[in-house]
Amino acid sequence: MNSTIASLFENKKKLLISGPCSAETADQVLHTAQRLAAIGKIDLLRAGIWKPRTKPGMFEGVGSQGLPWLLEAKKQTGLPTTVEVATPKHIEDALKYQVDVLWIGARTTVSPFSVQELADALKGMDVPILIKNPINADVELWCGAVERMQQAGLKKIALVHRGFSSYGNSEYRNPPMWHLPIEMKRRFPSLKMICDPSHICGNRTLLQSVAQKSINLDFDGLMIESHIQPDDAWSDAMQQITPEALANLLDGLIWRNENTDEAAFLNALQALREQMNHVDDELLTLLGQRMKIAEDIGTCKRENNITILQASRWKEIRENALQKAKKIGLSEEFIKQYVDAVHMESINHQSKVMNNE
Ligand code: PEP
Ligand code: MN
Repeated sequence: MNSTIASLFENKKKLLISGPCSAETADQVLHTAQRLAAIGKIDLLRAGIWKPRTKPGMFEGVGSQGLPWLLEAKKQTGLPTTVEVATPKHIEDALKYQVDVLWIGARTTVSPFSVQELADALKGMDVPILIKNPINADVELWCGAVERMQQAGLKKIALVHRGFSSYGNSEYRNPPMWHLPIEMKRRFPSLKMICDPSHICGNRTLLQSVAQKSINLDFDGLMIESHIQPDDAWSDAMQQITPEALANLLDGLIWRNENTDEAAFLNALQALREQMNHVDDELLTLLGQRMKIAEDIGTCKRENNITILQASRWKEIRENALQKAKKIGLSEEFIKQYVDAVHMESINHQSKVMNNE
């Protein structure tokens, strides 16, 4: 394997991946690659060759004929390439044209049969692979895909966070649900986590802030779609930017380090973390006390044959919490989740008492 590629997966360098959503023509691939290479910061050229589309009749990618275009772009610019693969035949074709890194798309990660087929096809090969999160918010599926690749003996694995499908309105095309990639980072601390702001945002305006947020969370790189004429792109036109706009975006980012040796900072951080641990401990103790009270209420209700839930009381608790949260600067979204979770736990405690468990 190309040693530059291998080192991308090993060292602490931030990995920057860009290129069009889809390869459309030989010219478009080459010109995008040339303009990306001119930025001087891009590590990998991406382009979708086979596009998993929601409905038949949409643009499904140019297919294998696009692979020589990528190879030519690599030869002319020196940029290594990456494409999405969804079947063993895609892998075979991509490798024939010296694609350096393969990626598994969100619609494939979601399917264990497909991921296993890819893992079987890759068994024993030392091909670097990027695994995007599944379209649904399921960390276990994402883990499963990583484990299947690890079992096949693959060593160069990185993760790509591209957001999760959600029902209803959102400012994002695929809301980021940051706690899920954070959980993956906890489970696989040695794997790079790359953010794909393009598919999270679905538009150009939010790209910069999502990219910055991922850096603030110590992500290890970015995959951002770029196109020489974004408005005319054959897929994902709304979210693509020109290579020059990408250069501006990258210039505007503030890269941060995970650690430092600076003593004053470390001391201040340690003092604040101790305070935080103390508060966390108190919160847990208080929650335990709250559940004891819930059990006592359960006993009273059982003895008087009263239901666990009184809708009006629950409404009052929720409204009070929302009002207080606003005053002390807690977000409505957080406090709703918190109150609902605490309420559910209280109900469970009361149910145990009610059922004499
Ligand atoms: C893509 O990267 O163009 C793509 C199809 O991504 P995802 O699998 O994240 O939808
Ligand atoms: Mn795309």
